[in-house]
Amino acid sequence: MKVLVLNCGSSSLKYQLINMQNEEVLAKGIAERIGLQEGFVKHEATGKEKVVIQEKMDNHKDAIRIVLGAVVDANHGAIKSMDEISAVGHRVVHGAEKFSGSILINEEVKQALEECSELAPLHNPPNLMGIYACEEILPQVPMVAVFDTAFHQTMPKSSYLYALPYELYEKYKIRRYGFHGTSHKYVAMKASELLGKSLEEMKIVTCHLGNGASVAAIDCGKSIDTSMGFTPLEGLAMGTRCGDMDPAITTFLMEKENLSSAELNNLMNKKSGVFGISGVSSDFRDIEDAAAEGNERANLALEIFYKRVKKYIGAYAAEMGGLDAVVFTAGLGENSKECREEVCRGLEFLGIKIDDEKNNVRGKERIVSTDDSATKVLLIPTNEELMIARDTLTLVK
Ligand code: ADP
Repeated sequence: MKVLVLNCGSSSLKYQLINMQNEEVLAKGIAERIGLQEGFVKHEATGKEKVVIQEKMDNHKDAIRIVLGAVVDANHGAIKSMDEISAVGHRVVHGAEKFSGSILINEEVKQALEECSELAPLHNPPNLMGIYACEEILPQVPMVAVFDTAFHQTMPKSSYLYALPYELYEKYKIRRYGFHGTSHKYVAMKASELLGKSLEEMKIVTCHLGNGASVAAIDCGKSIDTSMGFTPLEGLAMGTRCGDMDPAITTFLMEKENLSSAELNNLMNKKSGVFGISGVSSDFRDIEDAAAEGNERANLALEIFYKRVKKYIGAYAAEMGGLDAVVFTAGLGENSKECREEVCRGLEFLGIKIDDEKNNVRGKERIVSTDDSATKVLLIPTNEELMIARDTLTLVK
């Protein structure tokens, strides 16, 4: 069986075609600038040359048509006909309290997804556009929705409720949902495999550190707390998001700078984080380079970022009453040895000892703590697409 995995953003669409017999990626790529001038699709079938298809795409349906054309192309494709695609797995950001697991898409599910859009106005509508477009182009093919929030639905009320009037939770469903769930779940499972220990007997903190970043506390295989909240804005400092701050700053800034709620939202989501502090870039590579050249604000941005990850590890170890493993994943977590080193520095009291030599690695599954480190530190490249494909396969079977 071959499963097509789609991750639709507002102007982009990432895809992978996976052969589920051996879980090999047959083709992958990204359509960018959907709805804009100069759109293009970067496509690569395994073992073949990468191609860039320049074509204007008015909407997600256009993008999916081009992607499918590339996938079956005689020269740079991976399969002979679209009939070989047995199912489509869609990444959906928000499943609210309705979805605590992946689900086969039908009319009722689409209706429920429309209702969830209010909670994720930036993310769910493009996810839904992808679902509708696929339905038109591949009407016979079953589709599955896999949610970023689902894994965190096991959090207890004491973790997910905010200390606001309780009625607001009842009225608007204001609570912590958490995101990156597919990634946190995948790396926790991999950590258990790698350490040869059952998830049921482990307390793990998973750190998904990419442009968006979050930390999760996973006790006995279940998410019991996570740093992102009602939206992906809470928690760590991120590429451009501010993460935790005194909520009173919002009303103060609105008054002082005469900002609308949309302007304030933009400031907190797009202009803050390590970009806002450093003034250099939202990309950690640029910030690391600038810091190495003596840029003080770049250095400060890194210090703030690392410190916050460290604080969450400590908080979650306390919350779980112990810690067996810390896992680093996503762009920064997988590639920056400095990040893993700085976050773990000073955590010896939690039994964490990084091995400098083992930690000198990029993008490879590996234990990077010393053999005698009581708490293991692991680098595990995430694979959200594979998780989506696996869930899709299970549900369509
Ligand atoms: P997202 O999916 O949230 O866009 P990724 O997980 O792809 O994020 O991570 C992207 C980020 O990872 C980049 O913005 C960059 O800051 C960081 N990153 C990638 N490679 C490196 C590297 N070699 N060193 C430091 N940071 C890196």
